[in-house]
Amino acid sequence: MNIIETNLSFGSMSVRSKTTRIILHHAAAKSCGAATIHQWHLNNGWSGIGYHFVVRKNGTIERGRPEKYVGAHAEGSNSDSIGICFEGDFMTEKMTDTQKNAGKELVAYLKKKYSISKVQKHSDVCSTDCPGKNFPFSEIANVSASASTSSSSSSSSSSSNSDKLTVDGWWGPKTTRRLQQIFGTTVDGVVSNQFSCYKAQNPGLDSGWEWESNPSGYSPLIKAIQKKVGATQDGHIGPKTIKAIQKWLGCTQDGCFSGPSPCIKKLQQWCNNQAA
Ligand SMILES: [Zn+2]
Repeated sequence: MNIIETNLSFGSMSVRSKTTRIILHHAAAKSCGAATIHQWHLNNGWSGIGYHFVVRKNGTIERGRPEKYVGAHAEGSNSDSIGICFEGDFMTEKMTDTQKNAGKELVAYLKKKYSISKVQKHSDVCSTDCPGKNFPFSEIANVSASASTSSSSSSSSSSSNSDKLTVDGWWGPKTTRRLQQIFGTTVDGVVSNQFSCYKAQNPGLDSGWEWESNPSGYSPLIKAIQKKVGATQDGHIGPKTIKAIQKWLGCTQDGCFSGPSPCIKKLQQWCNNQAA
């Protein structure tokens, strides 16, 4: 499964302290993506798109509000839930298999990631038609967590400390989680507050990265890694930090993590050699 990063800019949000359920919605609009919904929700005076994911009709999964923040999608039920919106109006439309399968894949992934099984319709918690009478709720909601396929680009199982990383050269949530365990920072699989200008140069930095044009914070994990490799400790990954990591690992120092990157492979091997 591949989550498309959308790099939207948000107002202030609070971090969600627990995740116990998934709530499903439809957009009630025939054609819209995360960026369009983001604009609608900004126009409501909200901090930005209230859903964490948007499943498009073509099967693309787009990131909405960063996963760790409290959403704005189901009044009274936001503090412990992840909100997924499906493009379309399922009061009148029928969902295609392509979109349904993408939704099932995302729900399986989230069930596995958070070790949860509860999935609800928006109408289960609020007085609303959402997600529409034609929405294939049980098919999507009842997917098993074990159906989650760990593709190289976005595997995300809640790995125990002893789990070995797949050495695939992509730095996604699973590699981040393992590094967070090793470096003793919060284990959430997300590298937050990074400069979006460094993303394009580093295709090996996969999903699970938060890119912002002008981040107000930094990543404690990147800062800890910078300390380890002797780079300036500002908590932002850029060519200098990548060069320092490459030097530390004995790789070619080009300041870029290609995808798949031989140097990220070495980093993953290093992780696998650390004590559990
Ligand atoms: Zn809804």
